[in-house]
Amino acid sequence: MTSLPLHVQFRSFVDDDAKYERFVHACIRSRSGRGRLRHWQELLWSNFVDEVPGFTGMPVDDILDHFYFCPLHQNPLTEMAVHIPADLIVTTVGSSDPNTPYGFRHPFAVPHSSETHEIRLDTCPKCLALADRNRENPSG
Ligand SMILES: [Zn+2]
Repeated sequence: MTSLPLHVQFRSFVDDDAKYERFVHACIRSRSGRGRLRHWQELLWSNFVDEVPGFTGMPVDDILDHFYFCPLHQNPLTEMAVHIPADLIVTTVGSSDPNTPYGFRHPFAVPHSSETHEIRLDTCPKCLALADRNRENPSG
């Protein structure tokens, strides 16, 4: 059944949801980082292409692009910039002492502007909606 999408065939091959989701999460992290598979991923992928025809020799970049989606909701991910208020950073790092690691003057914690610090996230719209709902209603 090579007409099924790659991730469906791969999930069926792995036959272990936790392991499959670990593979997808590792791909998402690799995509914005080293751009390659980890050793355990390479072994799993190699076993997969040995058994399921049609994916032999697929470039790693294509594999990473194929698995750039939310394994929970099957949504493609999008890159999104999130602004964190500067005062939250100070609260989070817990110190304004310039000698303290991650203190306010540590380069890592210096906001890009005077008011906000921006981080980039890979997000799924449904996960984001769930997170918003949980923030508004923490007990639910
Ligand atoms: Zn999701």
